[in-house]
Amino acid sequence: MKQKLIVGNWKMNGSLAANAALLQALKQGLPAGGKAGVAVAAPAVYLAQLQVELSGSSIGIGAQDVSQHEQGAFTGEVSAAMLKEFGVRYALVGHSERRQYHGETDAVVAAKAQAALAKGVTPIVCVGETLQEREAGQTEAVVKRQLAAVIHQVGPCVSELVVAYEPVWAIGTGKTATPEQAQAVHAVLRAQLAAATEHAGRVPLLYGGSMNAANAAQLLAQNDIDGGLVGGASLKAADFLTIVAAA
Ligand code: PGA
Repeated sequence: MKQKLIVGNWKMNGSLAANAALLQALKQGLPAGGKAGVAVAAPAVYLAQLQVELSGSSIGIGAQDVSQHEQGAFTGEVSAAMLKEFGVRYALVGHSERRQYHGETDAVVAAKAQAALAKGVTPIVCVGETLQEREAGQTEAVVKRQLAAVIHQVGPCVSELVVAYEPVWAIGTGKTATPEQAQAVHAVLRAQLAAATEHAGRVPLLYGGSMNAANAAQLLAQNDIDGGLVGGASLKAADFLTIVAAA
């Protein structure tokens, strides 16, 4: 069976002290030789701390965003090369909070994915529909449009992506997609990837949106759900470890 991948998205949470405690608990709680891949995506200022705290650990380091630009006059931005210097393996791109609050378009998200890949950082491309779009029957069209922009941009590198399906209505709301709802969208995404690469089967497709210790096992049991992108529940070591154990 393919290895599952569980990624914690801390969002704008944490402090030096809280991160140290959480990372310590994760390092202690993760079984040696555990079968799932695990990573945490932290605010950029804490990546140096993660690099130190996680050295020698199997927990991968993730960033929550990456610039589409290589360098220069882009105040406030962090480049993929900079992330790489801090041992970053993954960068979220196109999280719905970035799309919604920072105006990131499909084109910007695609450029960010490309910029990450160019420096050897694996983009975790987030796609997902709003409640309004779901109710209007547009779920499939929306996620396909979002993913198509990235596929078009990265060309043959599509097999190096991670894709996360995160229905916007499920993020931070406690309303999880049912395993069937999530699987249905994952199957659509898998088919779309398969049309672009013969290696679609190895692209990890993560589900995100109120995944927690109680619902993770059922979601992760679905055919095309290869892991999870976990927000709120990744801030509590016990919950996050339970999700990892379910993978
Ligand atoms: P949530 O967030 O698990 O708190 O719903 C998931 C995400 O936004 O990545």
